[in-house]
Amino acid sequence: MFDTLSDRLTSVLQNLRGKGKLTDADIDATAREIRIALLEADVALPVVREFIAHVKERAKGAEVSEALNPAQQVIKIVNEELIGILGGETRRLSLAKNPPTVIMLAGLQGSGKTTLAGKLALFLKKQGHAPLLVACDLQRPNAVTQLQVVGERAGVQTFAPEPGNGVGDPVDVARRGIDEAKHAQHDIVIVDTAGRLGVDEELMKQAADIRDAVQPDEILFVVDAMIGQDAVTTAEAFRDGVGFTGVVLTKLDGDARGGAALSVRQVTGQPILFASNGEKLEDFDTFHPDRMASRILG
Ligand code: GDP
Repeated sequence: MFDTLSDRLTSVLQNLRGKGKLTDADIDATAREIRIALLEADVALPVVREFIAHVKERAKGAEVSEALNPAQQVIKIVNEELIGILGGETRRLSLAKNPPTVIMLAGLQGSGKTTLAGKLALFLKKQGHAPLLVACDLQRPNAVTQLQVVGERAGVQTFAPEPGNGVGDPVDVARRGIDEAKHAQHDIVIVDTAGRLGVDEELMKQAADIRDAVQPDEILFVVDAMIGQDAVTTAEAFRDGVGFTGVVLTKLDGDARGGAALSVRQVTGQPILFASNGEKLEDFDTFHPDRMASRILG
């Protein structure tokens, strides 16, 4: 996903190599190049501005180091600032003291929520947990069946409304899902919710009603990293309409520019917990800001 950005940054930083000393003009020129590279990668403007300001300030004030030459010092600063915008430390899922831990998934239709439910269930199952999937996306035809299919592939159970009962009430299904989890000793409940093609009020209200009914320990906002700048506006809408405690980036295997991945943490103030990079259930892992920064810097 970050191939172009990675190439650009590597070549900008490469230009500094061999310089014995960096003048302020060198730093300004480098910062300008980095700024263009980030904007071309679709990183949100306020994020770029802050990033560049930090890099410049730190590079100009950098102490003379015995261990690092000026170019290495700038690379170190850029790396640390990238880790910073990606969230710094790896943030793990927070589990409830009294199980079941309730994890609610929210996001636009097509963001990869249902697939993620299966991925997360498999990931947690491998860690010794006993997750239950709860199908509260009663809007999209086939969403329930699709969740049941990923559940089967992950080898976990799915709680779904009985067929033939009409559309049903997602809030009621969510509540009954939690009861079922308690009854059948599941220590984690993953609640899939409906997503629309665009942000709309009804969707937000339904998600907020489910949230109020099940009091989730985590609300994960699932966002397709390929949707570019729209990711930021969608994230803001979900933050204001439902609220969330963490972000999951999907489709990091795509060849889009990936600015969403680099903006969403800073813009929403919530950490990225997981990343999805493929259609298979195994294409999923904890998100590590430092590893992602290293990948981008090549
Ligand atoms: P939902 O509408 O949010 O539940 O989204 P789905 O889980 O149905 O996913 C929409 C499409 O994206 C499906 O075709 C998935 O196979 C695909 N998908 C999900 N996650 C990823 C990913 O990380 N990488 C790629 N390439 N495709 C994905």
